[in-house]
Amino acid sequence: MNSFVPHNQSDGPHVSRETAQWADHQSATLDVSRETEVDFMAPQVHAEVEFDTPIARAARVAMSVRGHGDDGWPRPERCRIMSVANQKGGVGKTTTTVNIAASLAMHGNRVLVVDLDPQGNASTALGMERGADDRSIYHCLVEDEEMRNLARPVPDIDNLWCVPATIDLAGAEIELVSLVARESRLKRAFSAYDTSELDYILIDCPPSLGLLTVNAMVACDEVMIPIQCEYYALEGLGQLLRNVELVKSHLNPGLDISTFVLTMYDGRTRLASQVADEVRGHFGDLVLKTLVPRSVRVSEAPSYGQSVMTYDPGSTGAVAYMEAAKEIAYRARASAGN
Ligand code: ADP
Ligand code: MG
Repeated sequence: MNSFVPHNQSDGPHVSRETAQWADHQSATLDVSRETEVDFMAPQVHAEVEFDTPIARAARVAMSVRGHGDDGWPRPERCRIMSVANQKGGVGKTTTTVNIAASLAMHGNRVLVVDLDPQGNASTALGMERGADDRSIYHCLVEDEEMRNLARPVPDIDNLWCVPATIDLAGAEIELVSLVARESRLKRAFSAYDTSELDYILIDCPPSLGLLTVNAMVACDEVMIPIQCEYYALEGLGQLLRNVELVKSHLNPGLDISTFVLTMYDGRTRLASQVADEVRGHFGDLVLKTLVPRSVRVSEAPSYGQSVMTYDPGSTGAVAYMEAAKEIAYRARASAGN
């Protein structure tokens, strides 16, 4: 009989002899530290052994999403400035901006996110604490404050910075109207910033085609358009494409649509795959091969002030955004419509 459970107590009113014996047996199996010292040998763990269990696989996926163990992705020769735009709300602009930016930063690129939406969702998702008198992108656009003074490091992710938005920005659409060079305020701010210190700037646009979005398109080289794999996904897209063309012909000849990202893909529905096929049919190689699936973890992450890349790096959403970011980093810049 094992000595860990004092068996004289097992005769008490509530504990039967069988229960006590069972308990003895359990303690004997669980506590290997004393009596079983001689019989028990811990298995030797060799570093080179690759465990292939579901948990080990998940851990490996999470590590690679977080950029451990690779040499980093290629860095562009000069800073790529990308606007993430679609005048439809809720299609995944902010989610795409934040998670692609985080992925690029985790794989060795230096990335700045500019939150150009008065809702400030990208700022929240990147853990920017905001107080009532915080300086934000509004002060850069309307009051000529230097961008450098506004960029703040994102907690927990090296090489990632964010210029936050505050609700002041809601008034900017109107205040900008009376300012000189109102369409190129953001471009001017970037020119004053030494963008050679950065590899990517991602601009999260508001759900409209107003002056804020025009500022983004004048300031960037590439437009990335997230498309939600739902009915009506392509509605309004024509107008967005025409706006890009207008800005290109009048204000920014170097502008191109470089990337479409299919978001919130639900593989169980035929509709999602039809939308994906249709978008690929129209835009060919501009559409990233990676489909971003609908995932609860993606939608939960912002409420913890995090990207899904740090919130749950092993989740399907994080892996998809990492793959999407990798495609962006590796493929040569493509251009739409020409
Ligand atoms: P937008 O910036 O275009 O308005 P968001 O990125 O804010 O769109 O996304 C709209 C909503 O959909 C948010 O609540 C977001 O958390 C959710 N969402 C976005 N992408 C996914 C996804 N892949 N899976 C689940 N929810 C998502
Ligand atoms: Mg948004």
